[in-house]
Amino acid sequence: MSEYYVCTGCALLCDDIEVETENGKVKTVHAACRKGVARMKGCIDSLECTVDGEKTDVESAIAKAAEILGEAANPLIFGHGNSSSEAQKLSIALAKKVGAYLDDTSSFCQGPIIEAILQEKLKTCTLDDIRHKADVIIFWGADPSNSHPRHLSRYSYFPRGKERQRGWEEDRTAICVDVRKSETAIICGDNRFYKIPMGEDAEFMDALVSALSSKVPKTSFGFDAKKILELANVLKKAKFGVICVGLGLIYSLKDLEPLFRLMDKLNEVSDFNIMPMVGQYNMRGFNQNLYEETGCINRVKYSPESGEAEHGPEFSVVEALRNKTVDAALIIGSDPLSSLPLSVSRYLAEIPLISIDPCRNLTSSRSNVTIPCALGGVEYGGTAVRMDGVDVELKKIIDTDNLPDVEILKKITEAI
Ligand code: SF4
Repeated sequence: MSEYYVCTGCALLCDDIEVETENGKVKTVHAACRKGVARMKGCIDSLECTVDGEKTDVESAIAKAAEILGEAANPLIFGHGNSSSEAQKLSIALAKKVGAYLDDTSSFCQGPIIEAILQEKLKTCTLDDIRHKADVIIFWGADPSNSHPRHLSRYSYFPRGKERQRGWEEDRTAICVDVRKSETAIICGDNRFYKIPMGEDAEFMDALVSALSSKVPKTSFGFDAKKILELANVLKKAKFGVICVGLGLIYSLKDLEPLFRLMDKLNEVSDFNIMPMVGQYNMRGFNQNLYEETGCINRVKYSPESGEAEHGPEFSVVEALRNKTVDAALIIGSDPLSSLPLSVSRYLAEIPLISIDPCRNLTSSRSNVTIPCALGGVEYGGTAVRMDGVDVELKKIIDTDNLPDVEILKKITEAI
């Protein structure tokens, strides 16, 4: 019987992946999308163990990392979205021990949505609910055809579900609201694509709330009121609806109030849920683990004296680097020098920097200490949390000489 593995290429964590190996390497990957295949085949450019640019053994690199973090007054620990939940919990404990700033990419992407879901301010469901029950699916500022290539085929549009036996042809309506005609918008079709100007999502949401309240919707950008009323009619008739929230929507909204208003109205007239389109495979795991520990999902600073966690925007990675309030940084499975604006991230090159990652990237190339780790879901197992909050067990496929990040973090913590 075939053995199935979990792909850690994105937070869908597809669990139907078959893998052929040869000479201790992943040779062929079946069922995964192109992103997943690339992930499962591992790094093109593997990270080496170094201190100050010189190759060294892992114990020396761990000792140097511990020295840097132990001496720093206000270190930053950032990353976590590509780590197992076990590693994330150790990272939280390490941050507590050294009085660190602790953050992940959710502080500038899906964080507000995850927080609202964990605080039960937004109604949500599982991906399996979507597959079996959803008849109206809105992709809002989301393009899963590119970001989560198997979202439509496994869950949201094409599959037949228990209550959706006639599938996409008759049983599901897919709608796209976006500023551009994405590949997902093309699948939804022209009459189900709502192209709105950049930054106007909140106004469009309020117009939709008016239409759902049987009022004539108005927008300052002159969107066809008839088309909004037609959309409202489709949403009213939904038996099980879902809004898949992408980064386009999050970046457009100043706060979540318009989304709360829309969800409240939709749940008066119908049954709607939110699905956060989380990118990194275990970003939601980090948010949940930190939430359980501190009541906050990100942007935390631990007091070195009391071990108490403070929370606020000033403790985000962006503000900590912009204000130069950190004096060392440990980056785990992330590349902030590539993903953050240079005006903010360039400060990382001025402070002692440690990278733990399977692959070489721009941040590791500027790091004083680099420690290669095993690739999650390929070279070591553990637990992760899918975008819908479901726990998923990861299995190891091949061996590696690299330690998993969970072991590296344990050793650093013990050495401080
Ligand atoms: S959709 Fe995501 S989890 Fe599924 S195979 Fe592709 S990259 Fe992997």
